[in-house]
Amino acid sequence: MKNWLVGLTGGIGSGKTAAADRFIAHGITTVDADLASRAVVAPGEEALSLIAEQFGDDILLADGNLDRAKLRHIVFADESKRRWLQSLLHPLISNYLRQHIEQATSEYVILVNPLLIESRQTSWCNRVLVIDAPESQQVTRTMARDNNTAAQVENIMQAQLPRDVRLQAADDVITNDKDLAHLHAQVDELHRRYKELCRTQPE
Ligand code: ATP
Repeated sequence: MKNWLVGLTGGIGSGKTAAADRFIAHGITTVDADLASRAVVAPGEEALSLIAEQFGDDILLADGNLDRAKLRHIVFADESKRRWLQSLLHPLISNYLRQHIEQATSEYVILVNPLLIESRQTSWCNRVLVIDAPESQQVTRTMARDNNTAAQVENIMQAQLPRDVRLQAADDVITNDKDLAHLHAQVDELHRRYKELCRTQPE
């Protein structure tokens, strides 16, 4: 990877977006895997035609966009369909992310991916930054943001990597258990470190 790269990850509602926004305020370019996974199946993309061929036009919404909820249901219930979809999308998402990382011109670049560790993109990164919050706060913050029940958020947390596995992969950890000012202060400190590191340890 041509640019010095920080991989940023964390569980649902841990504060990844809030942390990324603070890096952006320092002029750092962030590349977002959630955005990439939408971009590669946008109307007009070949992958969308292939998905419609495979699953039928019912997989499209009236406006031509992919019905992501329906697709999630289908592949959740069928391992071979899930594998087919992953083998289609994984390389496209990887290419999209690599391209955007390489085009960036900020001092260093941040790759935001909730599945950074699972997708092994940690191998692209010079540092891995985990945003960590107590599970009770992940639940209350996500409920407030998305209008979900506690049980829905807990189900998603169950399906994600256990907290200790994520923490083991971290070079740096931000503990997001207080207010936003506390989160921002930790980002500001790491921004100073990363600027220094990317100058002194470019590889
Ligand atoms: P997801 O994985 O679901 O996309 P995320 O890790 O990106 O979540 P955020 O969206 O940044 O998490 O944070 C979840 C919610 O909690 C947001 O509404 C955000 O504004 C709020 N939040 C994050 N950190 C704090 C904090 N320290 N104090 C108060 N609210 C916070």
